[in-house]
Amino acid sequence: MDLNFTAEEERFRQEVRQFLAEKLAPEVAAKVAAGDHLSKAEMEKWHATLNARGWLANHWPQQFGGPGWTTVEKFIFEHECCLANAPRVVPFGVNMLGPVLIKYGSPAQQQYWLPRILNGQDWWCQGYSEPGAGSDLAAVKTTAVRDGDHYIVNGQKTWTTLGHHANMIFCLVRTDRDAKKQEGISFLLIDMHAPGVEIRPIITLDGAHEVNEVFFTDVRVPVANLVGEENRGWTCAKYLLTYERTNIAGIGFSVAALERLKRLAAKQTRNGKPLLDDPAFAMRLARVEIDLENMKTTNLRVIAAVAGGGVPGAESSMLKIRGTEIRQEITSLTRRAMGPYARPFLSDDELAEVTEVAEGSEGSTITNAAAQYFNNRKLSIFGGSNEIQKNIISKMILGL
Ligand SMILES: Cc1cc2nc3c(=O)[nH]c(=O)nc-3n(C[C@H](O)[C@H](O)[C@H](O)COP(=O)(O)OP(=O)(O)OC[C@H]3O[C@@H](n4cnc5c(N)ncnc54)[C@H](O)[C@@H]3O)c2cc1C
Repeated sequence: MDLNFTAEEERFRQEVRQFLAEKLAPEVAAKVAAGDHLSKAEMEKWHATLNARGWLANHWPQQFGGPGWTTVEKFIFEHECCLANAPRVVPFGVNMLGPVLIKYGSPAQQQYWLPRILNGQDWWCQGYSEPGAGSDLAAVKTTAVRDGDHYIVNGQKTWTTLGHHANMIFCLVRTDRDAKKQEGISFLLIDMHAPGVEIRPIITLDGAHEVNEVFFTDVRVPVANLVGEENRGWTCAKYLLTYERTNIAGIGFSVAALERLKRLAAKQTRNGKPLLDDPAFAMRLARVEIDLENMKTTNLRVIAAVAGGGVPGAESSMLKIRGTEIRQEITSLTRRAMGPYARPFLSDDELAEVTEVAEGSEGSTITNAAAQYFNNRKLSIFGGSNEIQKNIISKMILGL
């Protein structure tokens, strides 16, 4: 197995770097580097920039608008985007629903919905989880009852990320209450502006509005919005989750965040000495760097195996667990490095001092280290919690 990049792949890397240098606005990159939330307009603009180049849906087949990249090229692109602090692609339309429609949608659904994902006409959100149906997703209770050419939907979804920006939601709904759990579920596309849909914000520990609850009361949904067969939605649901888990490991994010942390720790002092000379801090920093190096190699091994025709098995669960642990540890060390300035609520005077403390990290300041620390706790929960990933690994490798 050759883990080196070919000359052709290195040329592709240069092309991506040049694109990012030309097209990525420095003020947006600075916001991403600082861990600030982007506005809806900023996210949409980045989607449009990628789409204009044909690089938005980089894992879609070419016939649907994908660029026809190899697995290695996709990896290089994602990695370079992280290193340049490009905004992440909002995953719900492009990375989640798109592949489901390509595999299970009717030709009419593909023709209608896929171009709208690419050109930004629709903003999708994910309606899987409910109170009482998270890890045990097949326990969803939201019902869809057939009434002529429509389904009547009643129930509640929760943790709906960026649902307040969305005009459409893809949902798992129960269409047969008597069938075995997984067998009575369907995959339905619902208009967020339809009468009977109500969205309520959930404010998270970092003070941000990122997630929501969505309520459905007698919402009429055209039967044409059913993807795949009625009561066979579980197949779509599982297929989508394999896409959701890719990239949560976020190696590129960690590489960029670790570099920032090292620059920050070199500037900080504790008791008159550089923080990097503090043995306890240096040990944790070294450990996370070694873990990240190991992850990079494991990731390249998985990519090489997939490029050679294999499929990622338990490895994607391993990468998810380790990758999210590393990302969380880096936010924890960044919070420590910022010391008292990591507090969530700073006075104006203190904010001015923060610039003094943290500047030098390529112009970005880390004014929200505590917020990022809290926000990143989510990483080990969503996309299938890390405990659930361990169950998957034990089944696939140990056969338990
Ligand atoms: C910030 C954030 C954004 C999210 N965005 C979305 C979204 O956009 N759309 C959406 O549909 N969902 C979203 N989710 C929901 C997410 O998928 C669920 O939170 C996740 O699946 C866990 O489900 P739960 O919260 O119901 O916890 P539970 O399933 O109740 O789990 C509670 C705890 O028990 C553990 N546990 C549960 N079952 C087992 C088991 N069998 N073995 C071992 N341990 C177990 C879990 O690991 C966890 O620690 C989001 C969640 C968060 C935190």
